[in-house]
Amino acid sequence: MTHVAIIGGGPGGYEAALVAAQLGAEVTVVDSEGIGGSAVLTDCVPSKTLIATAEVMTTFEVASELGIDLSCNDPDAEVAPVVDLGAVNRRVLDLARAQSADIAQRLTREGVRVLQARGRLDGAQRVVATLPDGSEETLDADVVLVATGASPRTLPTAQPDGERVLTWEQVYDLDERPEHLVVVGSGVTGAEFAGAYNALGIDVTLVSSRDRVLPGEDADAAEVLEEVFQRRGMTVLSKSRMAAVERKGDRVVVRLEDGREVEGSHCLLALGSIPNTEGIGLEDVGVVTDRGFVKVDRVSRTSARGVYAAGDCTGVLMLASVAAMQGRIAMWHALGDAVQPLNLKTVSSNVFTAPEIATVGWSQRAVSAGEIEAEPVMLPLSTNARAKMQGVQDGFVKLFCRPGTGIVVGGVVVAPRASELIHAIAVAVAENLTADQLAHAFTVYPSMSGSVAEAARRLHRVE
Ligand SMILES: Cc1cc2nc3c(=O)[nH]c(=O)nc-3n(C[C@H](O)[C@H](O)[C@H](O)COP(=O)(O)OP(=O)(O)OC[C@H]3O[C@@H](n4cnc5c(N)ncnc54)[C@H](O)[C@@H]3O)c2cc1C
Repeated sequence: MTHVAIIGGGPGGYEAALVAAQLGAEVTVVDSEGIGGSAVLTDCVPSKTLIATAEVMTTFEVASELGIDLSCNDPDAEVAPVVDLGAVNRRVLDLARAQSADIAQRLTREGVRVLQARGRLDGAQRVVATLPDGSEETLDADVVLVATGASPRTLPTAQPDGERVLTWEQVYDLDERPEHLVVVGSGVTGAEFAGAYNALGIDVTLVSSRDRVLPGEDADAAEVLEEVFQRRGMTVLSKSRMAAVERKGDRVVVRLEDGREVEGSHCLLALGSIPNTEGIGLEDVGVVTDRGFVKVDRVSRTSARGVYAAGDCTGVLMLASVAAMQGRIAMWHALGDAVQPLNLKTVSSNVFTAPEIATVGWSQRAVSAGEIEAEPVMLPLSTNARAKMQGVQDGFVKLFCRPGTGIVVGGVVVAPRASELIHAIAVAVAENLTADQLAHAFTVYPSMSGSVAEAARRLHRVE
């Protein structure tokens, strides 16, 4: 029997464990913080649960347009929904713990051994697990998978205190709504939290070092979002690089490099992530890293024979879905099953703001830079009948297809629930469908997905 030892129980680790068990291996997952990893306990699941509440709050924006009188017929009454952040956070944490327990039970049911311990490599075929009581257990393994994830990046001049200067892992300890939250960092994490807290009725300032929010995303989508943020009353400071964050009693002061100061009651640091790869014996077994990230090929192999790596610790694409796929691929490869190398051009991802921004395949940036020849089409949602009915003004569908064949190579959807709408385009990209094929499938009338088909129709070329 093949022995598999996995360090880290996030999506990279636990999805790999399920595949390895299915293929008949004897599997142990060593995890220090809890099965599900940061994805379930501190990052992805908690933030999206918080955002579920924010989403409901956002729907009240169009209440009067849709004929709903929130003042309950009393013009003097100020009836506005108010969020109890303590209750929201308790729900967030309960849901995360329950999800972690569900996954742990599933692993146990499938015959995977879960060890609550800190793991490190002791040679390419041995993992040493240090248990909470300090004792050690040695696991000999034919295959080792490193899936240790990543942690919030902080700076010496911007240190979280867990009370008012917070990382995204610490925000769920808040019992009361911050009076004014300064979010530093306008990447996906910063934008998601800024949008969510703003929707929860909190005064938010978003500090961005770049000239617009979401510098890594489609520029048209980012423009829509920035405009929506500002319309909702958020202060967005662009070209504003943070130099330091200081706590002053009950206030926080964010000092910018140009000397300006932004004051708030709380500060959320969204400065990116650093890989959890220090002190786990990687160098000793010849695993090559680059700025701490484990270097892997497209079947998740590291430079050390028998040692694989998956997820955020590889820095390939920091998404739970990619971590899970890298983990599965590692096991399919190691255990001799059919395997297809990771293809990042078919990954769909989403920014959970309101509206959401979902993307798949080749990007506008790549097309504009001439990395691929593709014809674009962009269709605003404002002409979509369903969008009009629902009072949705912001958003669009964008598609890219190859000029000769018409094969769809990428797309962007900016809309409420864009995360669901992107799937049709993701199928087209994954299966090399043409714009005509995408257009021919029926969509429901009226529906937002009608705009996906309509965009595809506009790419039809008469020979
Ligand atoms: C705020 C936020 C929101 C996000 N939202 C989304 C989203 O909506 N969708 C999405 O796809 N992605 C999202 N992500 C990204 C996603 O969370 C990560 O890509 C995902 O967690 C990576 O999974 P992983 O298995 O590599 O690592 P993790 O989930 O970080 O799990 C690694 C586990 O290994 C453990 N560990 C570390 N070192 C050791 C050791 N030496 N011994 C034992 N255990 C160890 C850790 O404690 C942890 O439990 C989000 C990230 C952030 C920060």
